[in-house]
Amino acid sequence: MKKAKSASGNTAGPRKSVIAVAAHPDDIEFAMAGTLLALRDRGWEVHYMNVANGNCGSVNLGSKAIAGKRLAEAKASCKLAGFVHYPPLVNDLEIAHVTPQLAGVVSAIRAARPSIVLTQSPADYMEDHQNASRLAVTAAFCHGVPNAPCKPARKAFFENVAVYHAMPHGLRDMLGKQLHAGMWVDVEKHADMKKKMLACHASQKKWLDATQGMDSYLQTMIDLCAAMGKLSGKFRLAEGWRRHNPLGFATDLDFDPLRGALGSLVHVDRKYAKWLEE
Ligand SMILES: [Zn+2]
Repeated sequence: MKKAKSASGNTAGPRKSVIAVAAHPDDIEFAMAGTLLALRDRGWEVHYMNVANGNCGSVNLGSKAIAGKRLAEAKASCKLAGFVHYPPLVNDLEIAHVTPQLAGVVSAIRAARPSIVLTQSPADYMEDHQNASRLAVTAAFCHGVPNAPCKPARKAFFENVAVYHAMPHGLRDMLGKQLHAGMWVDVEKHADMKKKMLACHASQKKWLDATQGMDSYLQTMIDLCAAMGKLSGKFRLAEGWRRHNPLGFATDLDFDPLRGALGSLVHVDRKYAKWLEE
């Protein structure tokens, strides 16, 4: 049974480390960077991992050339924000919940020793996103499982970890059903930096701007934040989150460190608060 105190967000000394795990270079900038920047401002270490290398993100360049370019772009974005970059594991469209990839994500999570893992929606329009989310969830679960696959090998750690899922692209699942966040982070203060980070992904920006109009790449991201802000009913620009079921990830089922760390930057709806109190 859970305790009523959960509604306030229990934050008894979580490690100030967060890792974002997403499929492709620029996915983190679109849906998670504002929240990461807010945590960074509060003294958190921020770790950044793209599972795939972005090798399908061009119609002109070959696989190796575009993957190299996108690695440099992701690193530039991390450098700008002061995030720690982790190298990708596989090509685009090859993300799968298989042991070698799981071992790589477990290793990154054990290196970062986070109390918060941010990842993509378990239901999303694209399989890479869903599979990256599944890998992040299992890897977070394995943080304290010493015999789980981990390559390069790193020691398990035994502290509470909370997993939060970002909203899917277009805010709908693969069958077109609209999904509800329930928890929103105000990212207005960090919108400019979020834009600058996304603009580091120049190969994608040029491509989309050319085909869809000037600055459509950056505008799409801002439009998404505005849509989330509107749904929050409180903020102008926001990122939406859903907390993963804490069973197996934390000994304290009330563990909600994102809410605790960001205070007034977080708004939750009554349904979310009720779930915590039940
Ligand atoms: Zn993606």
